Amino acid sequence: MRLSAWDLVFFAGFATYIGIRNVYQKRAARQVTLHRQRDGIELALLVLVGVGNMLLPVLYLFTPWVRAADYQPPAWAPWCGLATLLAALGLFWRAHADLDRNWSITLELHQDHQLVTHGVYARVRHPMYLAILLFGLAQGLLLRNWLAGWSALATFSVMYLVRTPREERMLCAHFGERYRDYMRRSGRLWPRVPSAR
Ligand code: SAH
Repeated sequence: MRLSAWDLVFFAGFATYIGIRNVYQKRAARQVTLHRQRDGIELALLVLVGVGNMLLPVLYLFTPWVRAADYQPPAWAPWCGLATLLAALGLFWRAHADLDRNWSITLELHQDHQLVTHGVYARVRHPMYLAILLFGLAQGLLLRNWLAGWSALATFSVMYLVRTPREERMLCAHFGERYRDYMRRSGRLWPRVPSAR
């Protein structure tokens, strides 16, 4: 094992990420599922993201198997990585706290599913996905390895592009005009810029 100080910073962030997720996963597990869209596409996306966000960084940290992809990034990279990691974890926690028991790992609707439009969801419809993309960027900036570093950003970008339209279609079908109205006043990943008119 050859963990550098920056590897340990990443590992602490990774453990915090998993810790936040575990707390809210337990709360959501008590919900009764009304609709679950766990089809082949969803499962393939979950496996892909599992490899990029979990398996490759673990192999990098604890085995020599991906060492061929090591490189030396510029000295500023891990400092930017640390700032991005802190922003990602803050947003990840806020998004979980606001979505609370309406959260799920796959596309789901629960009995008594509430449409959340407050907190970080007031301006942005996918703050949790934004937090995961930022976490992927931090992973790339902190780990000195092309494969394990940039795999999370690459795999989660695919997940984001494929899943988001499916998720929005599901929420439109369930909440109807309320969700369409929410879409008109919020941005997907960034807050909507108010028009001049
Ligand atoms: N895409 C969101 C949530 C990810 S968790 C984000 O990035 O923050 C995925 C689950 O959240 C989906 O199964 C969906 O049912 C639920 N969901 C997404 N947006 C929601 C909202 N505004 N209110 C309630 N539930 C929502």
